[in-house]
Amino acid sequence: MSIGSRSALLRSLNAELPAMVATLRRYIEQESPSGLPEAIAALVALIADDFAALKPRIRKHKLPGTTNYGPALEIDFGGPRRASRLLLLGHTDTVYPLGTLRNMPWHATASRLCGPGVFDMKAGIVQALFALRALLARGPLPCAVTLLLVPDEEIGSPVSRLLTERLALRSRAVLVLEPAAAPDGACKTSRKGIARYTLRVHGVAAHAGLDFERGASAIVEAARQVVAISTLSRPDAGLTLNPGIISGGTRPNVVADLAEVVIDVRFRTASQAARVDAALHKLRPRDARCKLEILGGVERAPFERTSATVRLYRLAAKAAEELGFRLPEAAVGGGSDGNLTAALGIPTLDGLGAVGDGAHSPDEFVMTREMPRRAALLAELITALAAEE
Ligand SMILES: [Zn+2]
Repeated sequence: MSIGSRSALLRSLNAELPAMVATLRRYIEQESPSGLPEAIAALVALIADDFAALKPRIRKHKLPGTTNYGPALEIDFGGPRRASRLLLLGHTDTVYPLGTLRNMPWHATASRLCGPGVFDMKAGIVQALFALRALLARGPLPCAVTLLLVPDEEIGSPVSRLLTERLALRSRAVLVLEPAAAPDGACKTSRKGIARYTLRVHGVAAHAGLDFERGASAIVEAARQVVAISTLSRPDAGLTLNPGIISGGTRPNVVADLAEVVIDVRFRTASQAARVDAALHKLRPRDARCKLEILGGVERAPFERTSATVRLYRLAAKAAEELGFRLPEAAVGGGSDGNLTAALGIPTLDGLGAVGDGAHSPDEFVMTREMPRRAALLAELITALAAEE
């Protein structure tokens, strides 16, 4: 695409800004917390209707599993290079419970757009819609493109994972519409992996007044273990263990026979995860009358900064430069479904969605003027990737 047509694309997307904002408002005002299938289905219906005008093949997948989290939405656009399909990846669920809109209503100014899930990641969905619409306005897409929106990303993708992996495996690259890194709108070229463990401590119950010494406190034992676990963190190397929840005991006058600690582990490499796993399984009780159980493991493998990801990032940075802005790259702690696709060896670039800040907080916002620019960036990146083949 020439520089002239590039600035024309950005101009036409800039002119679409009011329509983008109006679309985003409809998506925000349809709340969609993870775990509420009816709410997710209602948002999916809105999105599918908007895309239907572009004449793709639309499929709503009922996901397997004992819990219904709502449908995943797959939108397929044909193209001349079916073998080199691109996968755009996002999610429809948010972390905000139903009714959040009452205290955190949709709010729009020339500089900021606010509302539950606006940044993570409903603005990213709107940007993809308008990017594809702008490309299709000039003719057929330069390559086949699939957009997949899953309903359960915010709770660790328990039921959508297999679908995401299946669609990634038939794609030559995955572009993740999750928010850009705050505050400068950087692309995410690596993300830490996440593991979750529960340490369950079994003690011996006794009356705290009559029989204190016969008891073995699960709470005291858990406290000692927490101190040991916290020494495994190596923040400089990107490895952290956070005992985030501790619970146990029944009454003040009973020596506790049960305590639990839930530990969130973040790591940069698979070998760090393996070392932590081994260390946790090697924990031994200080009081021999107590028993320890370790449950859990790795939930998302790390998204490591591979040469394939760097190549994708360079293409995106070049497209951004030609659109008149700088696109930095960042390594971040939080995981996304990009971790799943990167772990399969599919080149993955994350953080191609909205620019803003405050994900998962009452201050969540998107920078209004960035929406057309990021939509243009996505359109240019799709074009550049197709031209590479
Ligand atoms: Zn997200």
